[in-house]
Amino acid sequence: MSTIFSKIIAGEIPADIVYQDELVTAFRDINPQAPTHILIVPNKEIATVNDLAAEDEQVAGRLLLVAKKLAAQEGIAEDGYRLMINCNQHGGQEVFHVHLHLLGGRPLGPMLMRR
Ligand code: AMP
Repeated sequence: MSTIFSKIIAGEIPADIVYQDELVTAFRDINPQAPTHILIVPNKEIATVNDLAAEDEQVAGRLLLVAKKLAAQEGIAEDGYRLMINCNQHGGQEVFHVHLHLLGGRPLGPMLMRR
């Protein structure tokens, strides 16, 4: 079964794609939680961080480097931003295709919801 993100990567459903290369695709989150909210996604379908394999080292590194590039492009590098990957139920993961959230453009508050 193809994930919704695979369909975006393949161009089968629309998204605001801001970057694409042979390893990753980045597009704006449909329900942004901050002025900049971009998802950076491996082109290869990997369900969760738990499923990353040694052979995925290059794509895992690319996620971070593209986040850095897009933060600069969005003009949020200097003020700062947050990078986040949710994993499984306790992490609050909703789409089972690994994605790195790039969030910024306002102070983001504490890292976790207070209990
Ligand atoms: P997570 O909870 O980490 O799995 O995050 C999934 C994210 O994907 C949420 O922030 C959603 O708003 C976002 N999302 C779901 N469907 C789409 C879509 N079609 N285009 C862009 N972002 C989406």
